[in-house]
Amino acid sequence: MDYRQANLKVVVLEIGWYQFHQFLAYKMAAAGGEIRLVSAAHTSTTCSCCGTNDKTNRKSQAVYECADCGSAMNADTNAAVNILLAGTRPAKAKRPRAASRRASRLEASAQAA
Ligand SMILES: [Zn+2]
Repeated sequence: MDYRQANLKVVVLEIGWYQFHQFLAYKMAAAGGEIRLVSAAHTSTTCSCCGTNDKTNRKSQAVYECADCGSAMNADTNAAVNILLAGTRPAKAKRPRAASRRASRLEASAQAA
């Protein structure tokens, strides 16, 4: 943890998350940005490549391997990409569900054959 991270931790502990959010929202609005809150639920068990959500894909605290698409990466990196995708995705759009993606792949392979 570097100096800035330690300072941020102290600030959050002193003023609380709600007030920290208020300050951050104020600063972001002044800078022309916005804050998007992202739920951390299922970010560690969802594949950031194909969207499959299966808790058995998380092989250990550090290893994530998707049984559906075969992607393998650090589990924290996978969760961070999921949070990034959730935060940058347009509000109404949702990632296609894994089942519908599998159905699309099956259709594509059936047409190719
Ligand atoms: Zn996958």
